[in-house]
Amino acid sequence: MSSTKSTNPYTGKEIKTYTNHTFQEVSDIIDKADKRFYQWRQTSFAERKKLMLAAAEELKKNKHEYAQTMVEEMGKPISQAIAEVEKCAWVCEYYAENAEKHLADDVIETDASKSYISFEPLGVVLAVMPWNYPYWQVFRFAAPALMAGNIGILKHASNVFGCALNIEKIFKRAGFPENCFTTLLIGSDQVEAVLENPKVKAATLTGSGPAGSSVASIAGKNIKKTVLELGGSNALIVLKDCDMEKTLETCVHARFQNTGQSCIAGKRLLVDESIAEEFVEKLVEKVKNLKSGDPKDKETYIGTLAREDLAEDLEKQVNATIDAGAKLLIGGKRDKAYFEPTILTNVTKDMTAFKEETFGPVLTVTTFKDLDEAIELSNTSRYGLGVSVFTKDLKTIEKEAYRFDEGAVFINELVKSDPRLPFGGVKESGYGRELSKHGIREFVNRKTIFIKS
Ligand code: NAP
Repeated sequence: MSSTKSTNPYTGKEIKTYTNHTFQEVSDIIDKADKRFYQWRQTSFAERKKLMLAAAEELKKNKHEYAQTMVEEMGKPISQAIAEVEKCAWVCEYYAENAEKHLADDVIETDASKSYISFEPLGVVLAVMPWNYPYWQVFRFAAPALMAGNIGILKHASNVFGCALNIEKIFKRAGFPENCFTTLLIGSDQVEAVLENPKVKAATLTGSGPAGSSVASIAGKNIKKTVLELGGSNALIVLKDCDMEKTLETCVHARFQNTGQSCIAGKRLLVDESIAEEFVEKLVEKVKNLKSGDPKDKETYIGTLAREDLAEDLEKQVNATIDAGAKLLIGGKRDKAYFEPTILTNVTKDMTAFKEETFGPVLTVTTFKDLDEAIELSNTSRYGLGVSVFTKDLKTIEKEAYRFDEGAVFINELVKSDPRLPFGGVKESGYGRELSKHGIREFVNRKTIFIKS
């Protein structure tokens, strides 16, 4: 019987060892989930809304309990962990209030006496999720999926099984019927069998490119719909007419929140060469003041990375970039799973930290001469999740927004997810959208109904 060990990255101590589900147990869970689907899809929006609002209440009531598990399992600073749980409550409330409207029949005039599209649930949907926002990533899938009448089964990252079981508990405590949402305690090698089970109708994966490619290939072979939310290497473009103080604050937050482990973090700072010296000098001062420490401490802003091997990978990327000619302005050192907030300048587009996604507190700095060069540098990435541009000339930048090969362009703001707005990428950042009306319509059958009298 295989097992999965959960380790606290800050203390290095083992938290718990979980016994993985066997193939037979997984198969039984899927059978029960599928059976539940045929009842669940008959429930009214009003009934689902009541339960989803209860899930939001549960999250808010016990946010400290749920946040604590994140702190222990992946080293997220407690204040950011609590904020994440609160955001999960928001997405539950959003879909409780809006799902019915988003899935209302779409009437289309034809030669029929009545013709329309009805948005119907697909059945059991597998969610393969990462550890970086262990609740948020799951809730932004689960809230719309359940409100649409689907059933969720979760394969969470192996280092956050405690969070995964908590999520199952939240839905149970909220009163959802058994098997509406179940956590599978399995490794990634068991995902193929789940995807091949005919009772699993679709899958969503948030994670790295190789994981997404594997899941999409297996699902494709089995003609199943997928949504992929993969990596990102967003640029933060600072134009010379920006509001410098506000831009500095936003850039620091965009790169260093969640200890830099965010797909939509601004990882590559592109700054107009005429203001670069002053901007970077001030930036270094701000980053120096970020408080590293025990993730349990309310004042801590920079925790550890989620695992020591992830910090080692980041160290290799930083060293390779320095070896290629970049200048280390601050940070650069690792202590087990902790990595110092780091800024590298003189970074060019052929260097490792510019080309690859850096999943930790490392910001690269590259200068440009004009907007054309900034756009070209921003687009020189295999990823396309989003970009932030800082400028006072809103008219010009709005006009130029079409030139960015991205899922989102944020002006004078960091790229962030919001239940009301669609979220997702292009290029190797994936496909499909989560959140908003667009997200809830990913896992539905758009059924054409044609009635002739
Ligand atoms: P990961 O290694 O790809 O893991 C993500 C999930 O996929 C985990 O549950 C993992 O399970 C599973 N997995 C890994 N390889 C698999 C395979 N071959 N087949 C099936 N499942 C597989 O990613 P991570 O290190 O947890 O997360 C970091 C990555 O996620 C970054 O690239 C980040 O940018 C991306 N991300 C994207 C978004 C977005 O919305 N676009 C949001 C957050 C994170 P195990 O843990 O058991 O290996």
